[in-house]
Amino acid sequence: STVVFDKTGTLTTASPQVTTCVSLSHGFSEDRILQLAAAVEQGTHHPIATAICRALEGRNLPIIDAEGFVTQTGLGAAAMVDGERVWVGSAEGLSGCGVILSESVLSIIPPGETVVYVTVGDELVGVIGICDRLKSDAKMTVERLQKMGLNVVLLTGDRFSVAEAIASELQLSEGSVLAEVRPEDKAKAIAAYQQQGHRVAMVGDGINDAPALAQADVAIALGTGTDVAIETADIVLMGDALGDVVESIRLSQQTFNKIRQNLFWAFAYNTIGLPMAAGVLLPGFGIVFSPSVAAAFMAFSSVSVVTNSLLLRRQFTPADFPPSIKSQPE
Ligand code: ADP
Ligand code: MG
Repeated sequence: STVVFDKTGTLTTASPQVTTCVSLSHGFSEDRILQLAAAVEQGTHHPIATAICRALEGRNLPIIDAEGFVTQTGLGAAAMVDGERVWVGSAEGLSGCGVILSESVLSIIPPGETVVYVTVGDELVGVIGICDRLKSDAKMTVERLQKMGLNVVLLTGDRFSVAEAIASELQLSEGSVLAEVRPEDKAKAIAAYQQQGHRVAMVGDGINDAPALAQADVAIALGTGTDVAIETADIVLMGDALGDVVESIRLSQQTFNKIRQNLFWAFAYNTIGLPMAAGVLLPGFGIVFSPSVAAAFMAFSSVSVVTNSLLLRRQFTPADFPPSIKSQPE
């Protein structure tokens, strides 16, 4: 009844872009901040990491070595660079380090963009703005799921303003948006829906989605996602086309219809066949099955059920999603 989507890498492209990089410390140039961030991010698997490393390439800056990588799922990442601890991550992760953000720092990156803070040692040295776009088939997917009577929810670890921007593009109501949610709380959010009586499907791609995927009634991972998401999922889409979420739900519903039909026919068949095999027609009509004929009828029941199931291959017409949307690289 409810389909919950992760934002970063699931509804949005897995290749966001760095839009802003601002230095907050005289000792560090913008380029240096990008280099430090990229040094840490080379040890992670997050779309943000891809964006920062790509920005470095764009500026023709060499990547610097780092060691002792630590990933804080849903918060950020850290590593040792030139003997100093460099950390990158969200405002929430930063408050965990004891840094309080001033209004002027908070307003550097415009609402709607993901913010990544960079610290060296205990000092906040820079801030990076990252812009992420919706996948081209995201809106159509959400609309189609809603048309099927399903409740669509957006669940993200990113800040509220980014979630709101994405939600307004998708025309999701305010109540259907959960932002700044830590990975373990993502699972709790799913459990809360379940307690309200919803059957929940979760669609995700990241390490941070794994607990929520494990909690959901149906877990759907993108084939382009992380190994842990794929391992946890019940359904793995072959690529990153969101339209396949609609298709897999439709296929599941039609498969279930087949199961119902088959059960109905199997019961109907046996209700007639068993008394006949037992000789109910013998006194009135003189008809009785020999054991071999009865066995043939029994086998025919299985054949009819299997044939009806196989018909699904013809009856299920996949997607009227234009193929260009599916294959269009973002
Ligand atoms: P989502 O739920 O949208 O997939 P995540 O839970 O992965 O987002 O991340 C939440 C926030 O934590 C990000 O918006 C970012 O600010 C921060 N974050 C997570 N991982 C990283 C990382 N590798 N580098 C920098 N920041 C990160
Ligand atoms: Mg994600």
